[in-house]
Amino acid sequence: APVIGVLALQGDVREHLAALAAVGAQARPVRRPAELDAVDGLVIPGGESTTISKMVELFELREPIDKRIAAGMPVYGSCAGMIMLAAEVLDGRPDQRGFDGIAMTVRRNAFGRQVDSFEAPVEINGIDGGPLHAVFIRAPWVERVGPDVEVLGTVTEGPAAGRIVAVRQNNLLATSFHPELTHDRRLHAYFVNLVRHAR
Ligand code: GLN
Repeated sequence: APVIGVLALQGDVREHLAALAAVGAQARPVRRPAELDAVDGLVIPGGESTTISKMVELFELREPIDKRIAAGMPVYGSCAGMIMLAAEVLDGRPDQRGFDGIAMTVRRNAFGRQVDSFEAPVEINGIDGGPLHAVFIRAPWVERVGPDVEVLGTVTEGPAAGRIVAVRQNNLLATSFHPELTHDRRLHAYFVNLVRHAR
């Protein structure tokens, strides 16, 4: 089974570990560079991107993670994790810094100005069986994507209709929402598959 780490500095780490284990991965928390070396893929959980950014510096994980990303390690970021994977962040704190990740611009707390948290069905390209029940909590949305970024999902109803909330660039996957907070494991299974193929 592929070994998949969850960046365990802040955020909903346990939920991701449980979701990954449920779809056949060997899931483990990652806090140190040596732990990162031992994983085939990494999940960056939801939480608070400004805090995760600071902790990444403190735990000296920035360079090791950037290097693994450059070498093709699959990474999945949900919510704050999506922000950490974005090349550009709008409405971020000036000192927050993400990884060398997806060629996209995200707006932090984007839905928050309309509704803080909400749930909506989101159809994901490449995932069969109907839309995912997506949970958004002070979530970012994607405002611009580069030519190599594949849009996997958009909101289809309500005030945020048309907003991009799931993307993929090669081995990097990001969603605005939190599949780890539902019982639907299809998104985690999709990521585990991606890791299997990348190994
Ligand atoms: N608003 C948070 C941030 O800016 C993300 C919220 C979440 O991960 N649920 O990082």
